[in-house]
Amino acid sequence: MANDARTKDRGLVRCFFSCFFSVHLSPTPDWSSKNGAKCEAMNDRVIPLIDERARSRAVPAPGSALSAPALSTPVLDQFERALSDLRISVTDRCNFRCSYCMPKEVFNSNYMYLPQKALLSFEEITRLAQIFVSLGTEKIRLTGGEPLLRKNLELLIGQLAQIKTPSGKALDLTLTTNGSLLSKKASALKLAGLQRITVSLDALDDRVFKAMNDVDFPVEDVLQGIKAAQTAGLGLDERGLFSGLKINMVVKKGTNEHEILPMARRFLAQGLSLRFIEYMDVGSTNGWRMQEVMPSRDVLALLRTEFDLVPVPTHKLGETAQRFGLKNQSGVHDPSLGEVGLISSVTQAFCADCTRARLSTEGLLYLCLFATEGHDLKTLLHSGLTDQEIAQRVGGLWRRRDDRYSLLRAQDLTPQDNSESGSNPKKRVEMSYIGG
Ligand code: SAM
Ligand code: SF4
Ligand code: SF4
Repeated sequence: MANDARTKDRGLVRCFFSCFFSVHLSPTPDWSSKNGAKCEAMNDRVIPLIDERARSRAVPAPGSALSAPALSTPVLDQFERALSDLRISVTDRCNFRCSYCMPKEVFNSNYMYLPQKALLSFEEITRLAQIFVSLGTEKIRLTGGEPLLRKNLELLIGQLAQIKTPSGKALDLTLTTNGSLLSKKASALKLAGLQRITVSLDALDDRVFKAMNDVDFPVEDVLQGIKAAQTAGLGLDERGLFSGLKINMVVKKGTNEHEILPMARRFLAQGLSLRFIEYMDVGSTNGWRMQEVMPSRDVLALLRTEFDLVPVPTHKLGETAQRFGLKNQSGVHDPSLGEVGLISSVTQAFCADCTRARLSTEGLLYLCLFATEGHDLKTLLHSGLTDQEIAQRVGGLWRRRDDRYSLLRAQDLTPQDNSESGSNPKKRVEMSYIGG
């Protein structure tokens, strides 16, 4: 990382930014009130990117998205991080109410979800995906909310699976799901072109899992979903291993840490990859407390009481998990024995390698999971600009990116009170809206 880049003044960046685009930095959004308040709140957090005069130009024909050529130089942000990953939230709704993500008290019948008409269409998503690919994106993860709740999602997957990187490679296309609908959908997803999948499961004990999803959803149905994914061949690699089928477990101290070993026993025995995620302070509604975070080093120590773990080198820059595999009887690391990954978002910030952008369900681009404002790409799509012109604008945003929230938090440089009733004037966006 360039040292001088580290010292860049955020204020200066904003000032520069506002000269080029019509920037509207908002007051606190109101998340709780009814009557369209959510939409207004969203607007308050939107940074419009278009010159109003461009609106009068012709809207490009559908399908022209597939023509955006690669830029000649890689798009790097202020810390020289490439734009290689895009997470796309396809819905802000979910059928679970995990207390760490969508607590029932907030996400209840009064909560204003996005109206259907506000959602990006599959064509809009595909066009934007193609634009991101022209800027260097190679991996796309569909997420939400619960992505399998989005009607006909396999049609979108089919469209995204057609996109090729400038060098002619297929995209690395994956999806994160709570698994509740996976039994029904696994084979359609695979047929549509989905290569890999991550299923979230926080416990094998039904009582613990039901308490965590808070809608009484049984473990067995998620396990059936995982089985259906295996049967469909989701995540199966050329070696015949399910290296692309991952299980995510959020560890919340005092709630499910006693499930770490049972989860590891089960999924390693199946040769799968199990990832332990530190409970994060994302959003402003989950009542996060540091005391409820189980540091990855403690998870690792616990795992080592039973498993002889060996570090596995990371595949590529931007990989979030610290990975460990198992040795076979000859003492050699054997990938068929599965692996564990530790995602230490709180205790070991990985901002330095963060190559992820996030596209919200309604088309706002967020440059960090902890961002408070998004950049309006949906309006840009309908502004009459060509794909190349949009790519230049998105590239410009990425070049100015200096986000590194977790790193700053580790140094105590972030506002700590981000609760609904707190004093921090800018609320962070919820994970269910921006995508995990
Ligand atoms: N509904 C899908 C699911 O649960 O897999 C996809 C969206 S969810 C927001 C994506 C991932 O974020 C899940 O693995 C979930 O466990 C994780 N997650 C949500 N809130 C979290 C939090 N506060 N801390 C850590 N991980 C969290
Ligand atoms: Fe839903 Fe996933 Fe959030 Fe749980 S973590 S509430 S399943 S979006
Ligand atoms: Fe990336 Fe932001 Fe998370 Fe850091 S805090 S790893 S910049 S999303």
